[in-house]
Amino acid sequence: MVDYKILDHQITNLNSLENFINNYKNIPIEAIIKQDVLRLGLRFDANTLKNRHYKSKDYFIFSFDHVPLSEQPEEYRFKAPEEIKILKGIYNLLPTVISVRIDPNSPYLITTEDEKVVLKINQDTLAEVEFPPIPSWYNHSTASGKFPNEIAPVIEWGYLIYLTVFRNCQYFGKDEECAFCDINHNWRQQKNFKRPYTGIKDIKDILEVLSWIDKEDDTAKVYTITGGSVVTDLQGKKEQDFYIQYIEAIESQFHGRWMGKMVVQAWEKKDLIRFKETGIQVYHPNYEVWDKRLFPLLCPGKERFIGRDNWIRRIIEAAEIFGPSYVIPNFVGGVELAKPYGFSTVEEAIQSTSEGLDFFMSKGIVPRFTTWCPEPYTTLGNQKKPPLRYFLELLTRWKELFEKYNLPVPPGYGEPGRGKAVFSVSAFMDIIGYRGRD
Ligand code: SF4
Repeated sequence: MVDYKILDHQITNLNSLENFINNYKNIPIEAIIKQDVLRLGLRFDANTLKNRHYKSKDYFIFSFDHVPLSEQPEEYRFKAPEEIKILKGIYNLLPTVISVRIDPNSPYLITTEDEKVVLKINQDTLAEVEFPPIPSWYNHSTASGKFPNEIAPVIEWGYLIYLTVFRNCQYFGKDEECAFCDINHNWRQQKNFKRPYTGIKDIKDILEVLSWIDKEDDTAKVYTITGGSVVTDLQGKKEQDFYIQYIEAIESQFHGRWMGKMVVQAWEKKDLIRFKETGIQVYHPNYEVWDKRLFPLLCPGKERFIGRDNWIRRIIEAAEIFGPSYVIPNFVGGVELAKPYGFSTVEEAIQSTSEGLDFFMSKGIVPRFTTWCPEPYTTLGNQKKPPLRYFLELLTRWKELFEKYNLPVPPGYGEPGRGKAVFSVSAFMDIIGYRGRD
């Protein structure tokens, strides 16, 4: 019998990875490795990045890195790919897309062997690796002199156009910012490195880039409108009025060309009706953490200005506007273990988070999760990473409940399943339909 209490505190090696593979036969091997790579991050052999043509990280909203930009090795700062696709190798993996989070101390290394790019865990080679292609329209620039990768970057191997129209959040400082979120810190880091990084995007720039995507691109199927919370007003507009102007412009020029999603705060029904009528199909009012005690501690701004009870009520009521399966609230997987307030065991954390999953899924609403990495400069920046066992238990519970309530595949994420999913920051889409292995 494997002693998971010990493994929980270890950095993965091939032996411990195999223990997990043998003990979680309900989870595809691809998804196990994906969660561990997301959890521990990646380091790069700089030579492997030389003379290759691939889409690099656009820092589309958060940094998602485990170390500040200033502490990243110069040879691969701003050169790491947005995502990797792992395939074949010792487990004969099906292609699996994983978001890149830089950590120079990770046991996972991207390097070259026999002229092939590979993923290693310590000294052991796990799989072959591909990097994401650069869309043709990334070579243009707007009339105002902006680059498409800054205005309308794509992620999920080109499937999702990610429009962070407001790159800051008006929940500001430790007493308001969500404790895990680095949107404001990421913006400052990008600015410190003098990168072009527009705080509030111009609608004209976005429409110009979308017109190229419309003509040249058949991979992108969905766009997301998102950004930080607006507490007072922004450019003289209230939060909803600020965000809807982008959707109105996109939908009046390209109606129905891509599926429209939005990741914003939990709003009242009267506001949501406007967004639905304007063309938004999928709504992500992210509740971040389920536990009643932890929500105000980890999301102090959301608690103060909206409150957990209102937040949850609004999620449920949103289902009346969009339809339950089109309301997909996110939570930050693993943040409920953060010290000093979080749960002290994986079991307690899973019990609490499963309660939230059951609550929503019993109503036809399917929460998704992202994999928490303690980003530097956030309140939780020097916390330990959650153990791999947490994520495998979470996937197990998510799948059980998803199947128990016989729920439809979440819309706006592309094809589900092993070897097909493109959602890159957790493995919830990779496990759908998996029947287990002997
Ligand atoms: S509301 Fe919280 S998670 Fe959202 S951008 Fe602001 S600080 Fe980040």
